[in-house]
Amino acid sequence: MKRAYELAAETMVAAAGKVAVLTGAGISVASGIPDFRSSQGLWARYDPMEYAEISSFKRNPEKVWAMLEEMLAVVEQAHCNRAHEYLAELEKKGVLRTVITQNIDGLHQAAGSCDVIEFHGTTRNLVCLRCGWRWPGFRLSELQKLPPKCHKCDAIMKPEVVFFGEQIPQTALIKASEAAESSKVMLVIGTSANVYPAADMPALTKRSGGRVIEINLEPTPLSTSVADQTIFGPAAVVLAGIESACDKLLTGRRLI
Ligand SMILES: [Zn+2]
Repeated sequence: MKRAYELAAETMVAAAGKVAVLTGAGISVASGIPDFRSSQGLWARYDPMEYAEISSFKRNPEKVWAMLEEMLAVVEQAHCNRAHEYLAELEKKGVLRTVITQNIDGLHQAAGSCDVIEFHGTTRNLVCLRCGWRWPGFRLSELQKLPPKCHKCDAIMKPEVVFFGEQIPQTALIKASEAAESSKVMLVIGTSANVYPAADMPALTKRSGGRVIEINLEPTPLSTSVADQTIFGPAAVVLAGIESACDKLLTGRRLI
């Protein structure tokens, strides 16, 4: 396994500053947030077609907010784990440039990553569906009543996450595509990357001549398609190995 870490580190350090990462639910499981799609996840108990569709939210916000309250409580209690921290450290060391995440938990920012593109929005903010007023950084305990109402126009608010049937935020999509195309290496962590448009990102890097390194617990469709290297294992363990190998290479560079 050591050689696999060294190989990934060599690829990343050679492309330092032009490395992006695409993360998915798998990276936050160790933070206590089960993958929504897993047997422990939210969608095992709440039918996403009934609870995660924007039309359902508009039709029956009280019902959908009962699920959201549970989701937000789990996310609020979660702390970033070592995998998030390793990525933040790799950014500080000038190796990693951009984090593109499908997660809505804000844990990359909590770990100290600065350049984070959130494909599916975030649970940290509330937004008014009528006037667009935002409540950044709200806490569940601050909501006196559910569903919460806009302070400006009294319409119902929803977390700033992308529901099924809603568009991916255009700015996120453009920035992510640019980052993917201009990166020489893309790490893919904790996702099988089969939900579009996030799924396009590794392929964009590949088509631009870059390399794709996959870190997942099990093989995914990426393993036999776009991935140049796949390392199986928990994200925190694999990233620990890669970061330590990167450090050796970076120290070597400074000595020269
Ligand atoms: Zn409003």
